[in-house]
Amino acid sequence: MDFVSHALWGGVSFGRKNSVRFMMAAGISIAPDILTEGLFMVLYLLNIGGMPGWENGHPNITDYPMFAQNLYNVTHSLIVFTVTFGLLWGLFRRPVLILGAWGLHVLIDIPTHSLALFPTPFLWPASDFKINGIGWDHPMILITDALLLIVTYALWLFHRVTHRRATP
Ligand SMILES: [Zn+2]
Repeated sequence: MDFVSHALWGGVSFGRKNSVRFMMAAGISIAPDILTEGLFMVLYLLNIGGMPGWENGHPNITDYPMFAQNLYNVTHSLIVFTVTFGLLWGLFRRPVLILGAWGLHVLIDIPTHSLALFPTPFLWPASDFKINGIGWDHPMILITDALLLIVTYALWLFHRVTHRRATP
């Protein structure tokens, strides 16, 4: 899915308490892509790390050097997310719920990436299995995503307005 949608979904799902929490949830939500695709783009522009060019369109993840592929595996694995979530739960003695924005990112990516472009390695390192979803740039996905975001944010806004009115 695209950066903006990830940020909006993460924010509305895990950051409804206040604006600081919203920004944190949105930031966690886009981190898996900023730390990979964003970083790969910067490294490519700086000519560091042997990053592939964009002459023939967006390169697939298999065109990238191994360290880049592994970084993508780590940030887009539900197993790595679950282990990290569990470790932090133990460390802080309570679930760090806002981290769920990371898990949500992976769940959204699974059906919205095809094998042709950054398929989601959600079972890494246990399995290389990936789902051949419909790319997020397909009009059907873009329209569905936009409609769902509009409905969700409208419901949130409606709830906030009616809740405020009900509270003296
Ligand atoms: Zn992603």
